[in-house]
Amino acid sequence: MTAEQNDAVPPCASLRAQIVLRGTLRSLVIAALLCAVSYYHVAGMLEDDLLEQLEQYIGERGLREAQLFTQTERHHLAVEQQLLQQLQGVPLATGAALFDDYFEPWPDGTWRTRKGWYDGLLFKDGLVHGGFTGFIGQDVQLTPELRHRTALMAALLEWFGTAWTATGQYINYYLSAPENLLIGEFVGVPYLHQVPADTYFPGEIFVALANERQNPERRTVWSHFYFDRTAEMWMVSSLRPVYFRDRLVATLGQDILLDDFMQRTLGDALDGTGNIAFAEDGTLIAYEPMLQDIQAADGALRIDGRHPRLQRIFDAVVSQRRHSGVTEIDDAFLAYTRVDGPGWFLVNIYPKSLLQNKALGAAAIILGIALLGLLSEFAVLWLLIERHVLAPLRRFIGLTGRVGQGDFSELGGSELATRGDEFGLLARRFRATASELDSSRQALLAANRDLDALVAARTEALTEANEQLAKLATTDELSGLYNRRQFQTLVPAELARAGRLASTRLWATLAILDIDYFKQINDSYGHAVGDEVIRRIGQCLNQTHRRAGDFCFRLGGEEFALFTLAEQVEPTALAQAAAQLLEAIRGLAVRGHEGAPLQRLTVSAGVVCVPAEAGLSLERLYKLADDALYAAKAGGRDQARLVLLAEPSARLEFCVR
Ligand code: GH3
Ligand code: MG
Ligand code: MG
Repeated sequence: MTAEQNDAVPPCASLRAQIVLRGTLRSLVIAALLCAVSYYHVAGMLEDDLLEQLEQYIGERGLREAQLFTQTERHHLAVEQQLLQQLQGVPLATGAALFDDYFEPWPDGTWRTRKGWYDGLLFKDGLVHGGFTGFIGQDVQLTPELRHRTALMAALLEWFGTAWTATGQYINYYLSAPENLLIGEFVGVPYLHQVPADTYFPGEIFVALANERQNPERRTVWSHFYFDRTAEMWMVSSLRPVYFRDRLVATLGQDILLDDFMQRTLGDALDGTGNIAFAEDGTLIAYEPMLQDIQAADGALRIDGRHPRLQRIFDAVVSQRRHSGVTEIDDAFLAYTRVDGPGWFLVNIYPKSLLQNKALGAAAIILGIALLGLLSEFAVLWLLIERHVLAPLRRFIGLTGRVGQGDFSELGGSELATRGDEFGLLARRFRATASELDSSRQALLAANRDLDALVAARTEALTEANEQLAKLATTDELSGLYNRRQFQTLVPAELARAGRLASTRLWATLAILDIDYFKQINDSYGHAVGDEVIRRIGQCLNQTHRRAGDFCFRLGGEEFALFTLAEQVEPTALAQAAAQLLEAIRGLAVRGHEGAPLQRLTVSAGVVCVPAEAGLSLERLYKLADDALYAAKAGGRDQARLVLLAEPSARLEFCVR
């Protein structure tokens, strides 16, 4: 794995991911807050607007719905005015004479209008051509006054009736008198020719409602709304009593078709809302969800505890003092208006959820826009971070990675250092630091090299010194031969080695040599010459015993030793070698003071040769050789005494000169 791979940052830990992620989270929180604030702001605004609109709407709606009813009231006022004028102005005889133009007696004892006043025809356009019928009960006393009044009423009906019913808004117009008399234009029906002879109209509700007892205020009164089973239509009746000289002389009546009103109430509501119409006494007139119940009750359905929501709506609206306005219940705004005429309430039920949905919609749009904005902003941020932060940063990381690996080559020329921004500053600082680092590193390398050389030199010197020391420890300085200590180490080791070789029988030969009369040399020529003698004899021994396995020692003073192991020893060869050694030493020419040669140098030697068996000690070997040396000294010096011990019993001794 390279240094750069080691330095690779996982995508989720990248600077860009962190910035963008944290930015996104914070921005989302802000967007959500914005959205919530917008929601409440919009909801507030919408509510203000809505209440204003609803108030305007319901006010206009109330006026429009009232038109039908106020129109009827105007009809009544017009007829009343005309009737009163004519009762006052038309002479009794004139009116009474007219009566027979309109009425004729029927065999059943009643009076009915003549057939000619009702043609029953419909025009092609569907409008009723008109015509009216009239009825006077069996026991009615036809006084001149009644004949006069009845004729005037019939004449008025002839004037107005057809015109009003022709508008299509009204199904009839009728005038009655307290004496059981009714004249009326009923669209398409000769109603008063059909009623039975014993009919008593003053007892009928649509007449009685306005009588002196039930309507002492003498106002225009309105019936309950009801379903007319004959016409199969919803209706309400408007009745106006007419008083002449403080006596009830007539009752004017008009039934108003409510189907259009009902349809508008049920069908013509603002989107998502519903309408309801009810009378002040709680009679439900129009309400879509309860249409069948209204129908089943023939219009006499009262709002009560069985309809808690309707009851709340009813209570909220009826308690209002204004003609029209907006009030509310928990889940809906109620735009209410009183419909002039019957005084009903028309209410538009506006669910509050509609408003909330609109506010939510607005908030959702704001959220959508905010999210879109954020998304594009972060996309741009993503690219900007990539281009202006991550790309230079990656180059910088690459650079530091290479510097980390010891490659300073790109450091000088990197374009990063030429930038004017923070990366430039960082790169320049890094370059300066890295340059210092490089210089220190170079210096360190040089110092290391010096140190290595020094260590090598010191190691060599130490090795040399050690070797020297080792040599000094084992070598005699004067003669150049092994010293006594080495003699005591090496010879026992060799004897032990030979003892371990079971297969081969080896012979150990030890010779001890002592310079003859050496004291005299010292005394005669000085110690330095004595030393020179020792050195020369050492050299001689060294030169004559160079074979591998031959060891030469200076044991101390002027005493030397030779040791060797051999597989075979020939006594004659041994003797010959001893003789040659003695001769070689005799031949050494050492000079004393002023170059005068010394007396002849001689040595005495004791040589012992024994099988190197296990248990053979240096002490025993030395003792044997020393004894032989002693014998050589005693025998006159300048000679070698040899002792060969093959077996303990087989001992061979001889002397070599
Ligand atoms: P012999 O023939 O019986 O061996 O007689 P010698 O004189 O050689 O024997 P002795 O042992 O009496 O004398 C040895 C002398 O060697 C004594 C001492 O002063 C001398 N000597 C010992 N070591 C050294 C040395 O390293 N250098 C010198 N110059 N003299 C030494
Ligand atoms: Mg001696
Ligand atoms: Mg001696």
